[in-house]
Amino acid sequence: MYPQLFNYIDGRFIGGEGGAGQAIHDPATGERIGWLPWADGAQLDAALAAADRAFQHWRISSPLDRSAVLRKVAELARERAAAIGRAITLDNGKPVAEAIAEVLNSAEHAEWNAEECRRIYGRVVPPRNPAVRQLVVREPVGVCAAFSPWNFPFSQAMKKVAAAVGAGCTVVLKGPEESPSAIVEIARLFHDAGLPPGVLNIVWGVPAEVSRHLIESPIVRKLSFTGSVPVGKRLAALAGAHMKRISMELGGHSPVIVFDDADVDEAATALARYKMRNAGQVCVSPTRFYVQRGIYERFVARFAQVVSEIRIGHGLEDGTQMGPLIHGRRLAAVHELVSDAAEQGGEIVTGGARIGERGHFYAPTVIAGVPDHARVMREEPFGPVASITRFDDVEDVIRRANSLPFGLASFVFTHSIKTSTRVANALEVGMVNINHFGMAPAELPFGGVKDSGVGCEGGSETFDGYLVTKMITQI
Ligand code: NAD
Repeated sequence: MYPQLFNYIDGRFIGGEGGAGQAIHDPATGERIGWLPWADGAQLDAALAAADRAFQHWRISSPLDRSAVLRKVAELARERAAAIGRAITLDNGKPVAEAIAEVLNSAEHAEWNAEECRRIYGRVVPPRNPAVRQLVVREPVGVCAAFSPWNFPFSQAMKKVAAAVGAGCTVVLKGPEESPSAIVEIARLFHDAGLPPGVLNIVWGVPAEVSRHLIESPIVRKLSFTGSVPVGKRLAALAGAHMKRISMELGGHSPVIVFDDADVDEAATALARYKMRNAGQVCVSPTRFYVQRGIYERFVARFAQVVSEIRIGHGLEDGTQMGPLIHGRRLAAVHELVSDAAEQGGEIVTGGARIGERGHFYAPTVIAGVPDHARVMREEPFGPVASITRFDDVEDVIRRANSLPFGLASFVFTHSIKTSTRVANALEVGMVNINHFGMAPAELPFGGVKDSGVGCEGGSETFDGYLVTKMITQI
């Protein structure tokens, strides 16, 4: 049921058991389900050389041809969504309905890039001398090294590949070794959609070694990374040393601000379900809940009730709403933050412990009255943990919301336009959701500020990170 895994270099699927690599496990059971073959140094160089060769023709390809490939990828992704989704559930743990939805949403991203790549316009600038013609054109940046994460293994990689390929770039991608099946399926989709050999290459190996090898190569002109802030900073520093362009989608610690005038029960119910999606392993997951004093008790009670009713199990079982965490490290990290919050005076209203000994399950957890200095309020929890605290006035809550180095998503619940406008203008973040959750459709930019990253994916900004500007003046 779990697919065989490969490297994908110059249009060929390479690997299998035998050479260096690593076993892949189901995070819900701990059982070995597959084998991920690593690329050696010569294969990394072969992938770079293939991407370099392919760039020479792909950079001048017709946008109509690039658009056709991306449309075909979307069509095939929809056809194969159920099988791809099942494999994602096996190596990632998320409920299969969420995994299939991820594939279907990614089909829209491929389509969006297929449409936008026909509109990569330049401009004509009025000259001072009428005999002169001044043009500004936008060209693909070149070979891109991309690194995508395990939490949304299909969609995060698809966003990078569809944008790079649509812009006329070529790619060497290292996916997440925790959840690799989605990446190999993406390679199959592009392969079957007729992408020329070398335009997309997939390689696996020891992350720090692969990233250094690729980023230091003079062939690579751009780095795109989605993952944690510390790793992002390390890779950005390496890219900076070699003057490579970067796009960074990093961690967050999203503030949620619920005002007295919000629909308390509705907001608490919606937020509780949204919080536990993908077991909270979401960069834009709501994590710091600031609730105004007048509705605080009612909010906590409703939120905890909904959270405690979430059905936990293997993602392939009927009715499962939340699966396991991705690996043992995450389990330990989450529990450390919860324990610290309790020691600092937070009240564990529900959850607070690992579930069973098999698999990496952690109970959905609500901690009330968490002080701002507790680690869970300062460090990204990246797990099924909601920390709730009170606030009194709008200026104070804005200050607290902006007090961390993160700046990714935020959530505001109020019926006052004056309040929502004030808060939306003041929050130091890349995305503000007011009274609903509306992030990540293909037509909207997705990205952060401060430590949460550089650049956007999606929206009409989708190619910004993959294009360079050239001025041409002629007489
Ligand atoms: P981790 O730091 O151990 O990250 C592991 C992941 O990062 C692996 O997929 C690995 O391949 C990659 N990685 C590590 N070092 C690398 C290097 N030098 N070069 C290239 N890739 C490298 O963390 P974890 O416990 O697995 O995940 C939790 C953290 O990851 C969270 O705090 C969160 O910020 C971050 N994360 C963020 C996103 C996002 O969408 N921004 C997605 C997934 C994970």
